[in-house]
Amino acid sequence: MTTGQDALPEKHSFEADVSRLLHMMVHSVYSDRDVFLRELISNAADACEKLRYESILQPQLNPEGTQPEILVKLDEKASTVVVEDNGIGMSHDEMIDALGTIARSGTKAFMERLEAAKTGDKAQLIGQFGVGFYSSFMVAERVDVISRRAGEAAAWKWSSDGKGSYDMVAVDLDQAPERGTRVILHLLEDAKKYTGKWPVEKIIRDQSGHVPIPVRLIEKDGAEPTQVSDGVALWTRSRGEIAKQDYDDFYRGISGDYDAPLTTVHFHAEGRHEYTTLAFVPGAQPFDLFDPERKGRMKLYVKRVFITDDAEVLPRYLRFVRGIVDTSDLPLNISRETIQESPVLSAIRKGVTNRVIVALEKLAENESDTFAKFWDLFGPILKEGIYEDWERREQLLKLARFQTTAVDDATRTIGDYVADMKEGQSSIYYINGSSIEQLRSSPHLEGFRAKGIEVLLLSDPVDSFWPGNISEFEGKPLKSVTQGLADLDEVSGVDGTGAPKHEAPANVAAFIDLARSVLVDELADVRVSGRLTESAVCLVASEHGPDRQLEKILQGAGRLQTASKPILEINAQNEVVQRIASVEDRIFLEDAAWLLLDQARILDGDKPSDPRAFAQRQARLFSLATGLNQ
Ligand code: ADP
Ligand code: MG
Repeated sequence: MTTGQDALPEKHSFEADVSRLLHMMVHSVYSDRDVFLRELISNAADACEKLRYESILQPQLNPEGTQPEILVKLDEKASTVVVEDNGIGMSHDEMIDALGTIARSGTKAFMERLEAAKTGDKAQLIGQFGVGFYSSFMVAERVDVISRRAGEAAAWKWSSDGKGSYDMVAVDLDQAPERGTRVILHLLEDAKKYTGKWPVEKIIRDQSGHVPIPVRLIEKDGAEPTQVSDGVALWTRSRGEIAKQDYDDFYRGISGDYDAPLTTVHFHAEGRHEYTTLAFVPGAQPFDLFDPERKGRMKLYVKRVFITDDAEVLPRYLRFVRGIVDTSDLPLNISRETIQESPVLSAIRKGVTNRVIVALEKLAENESDTFAKFWDLFGPILKEGIYEDWERREQLLKLARFQTTAVDDATRTIGDYVADMKEGQSSIYYINGSSIEQLRSSPHLEGFRAKGIEVLLLSDPVDSFWPGNISEFEGKPLKSVTQGLADLDEVSGVDGTGAPKHEAPANVAAFIDLARSVLVDELADVRVSGRLTESAVCLVASEHGPDRQLEKILQGAGRLQTASKPILEINAQNEVVQRIASVEDRIFLEDAAWLLLDQARILDGDKPSDPRAFAQRQARLFSLATGLNQ
């Protein structure tokens, strides 16, 4: 075997993204350098947990059954900080893979956000994303990583100044940990404070106090180690013994958030299945909340051994919840692949999901301000459950908060809506669009306003999906106000005088017939509106056709080739419409039909289908108008 002394180091270049990340870390993220320690300790803890897991099937990886431990060594004279673990370690190839590339998908997103962020927000970002090993270079001019993989007879040293390349060299076994990894930071001149016992101890307690592996500190060369953190998993303690501060610290440790969680769920289930959950609803949106993968981040432990964070302990619409589940009912040697099918896990899933939802219900009931904040952050995600979780859809729908035409700044529940329905009103009405402001000024609402009928304003993308999936709530069907004929006549209303009328004067009826034949390629029909009281026109979908907003989203996503044709409704009482209808000029009437259609499109947030023709028609109209005015 080669030894470190006679082997020449291999030189490797960092992947381009690593160089970019390192450059950014060193130059812009200066304000909160303490996080490097949290990152190294978290890696050391991960490595110990990996060993614990792998040695279940391969006991030879830890033949003496040594207890896992993390050691932090300070040396003021040498100006170094060392973080060492007796975990799984890394082989030559694993080191190149893990420390020379950016493997994590989150890191690329992080870099983009970091480049865009203002200086003050950068520290927060680091916390949220967890930038990992490379944060060492915020405090070190050179980093050495000496590692020996469990079960292997060789040890390697990785070494770099973080400027584009790193060296790899084999080292003698007596220069390396018996098993595991030693990270040596040669501190920058202005980072010497990290050799001080007090600051370092405080950072460890604050940021890593709840890693489930004990951490010991050696304050200077030759000193005895002292225990900083006992590695007892917080969730195994009973609730009465745990202070809010402990919960909050634990939450910060697993989420990287700087603030407290909105709510904490901690319980121990006994009976058919035995498990413990400690879960948090975060106080800020996790960075990966809108990832298309929609992965959750609940960690699964079996008898305190970390198994995976891919077990999908919670449904996707609760993916913002951070925490752990620890059970004694699964075998330790369960493979990560088959775990998904385990009936025990599905029972646990159900139990944990229920507890989280009950916690949200309690929050809504007892702390409406906190719940409002929750809804702002995670409402659009939770609403995915209304169509994904058949069993709990009613429960989730009751949790939902809506802006409606009945209130300006507050929100309402669907229960509030039903309680306040007008006499004769049989449906729950909603309107979909891309912004609340646009919706509030939509012509579709005019008739509903005139009759005093409340309409739910839905502007999240997910809102295009769930209402169509729910046929009713408490026996009342949900209906889009942009779909079908408005059956406003049935509702008595507060003030019937402003309500729309269905009949049209003869010339308007003739104009509608003309518009129908002119616009036959664009529209399914043109008809007198039963919902407009002020505006001239609006577009609606046919009674049984898909919602127009949903069609737009599907088209935008390339999932729909041709949208169905809408119906143009014309307000026969509108003064401009009546004037138009009284003009006897075929060209003018055709232009007017087209322009009214384009107006309806624009009111829906769309564009005229043929901008050039639109401009020409408008020009003809202008010259006509100015000619008449002379
Ligand atoms: P993350 O921990 O999120 O994967 P890091 O940048 O912190 O990202 O670490 C990158 C990788 O380097 C880890 O996934 C792991 O494979 C490896 N690694 C880092 N530190 C250690 C360690 N102490 N022991 C074993 N492997 C490690
Ligand atoms: Mg890490």
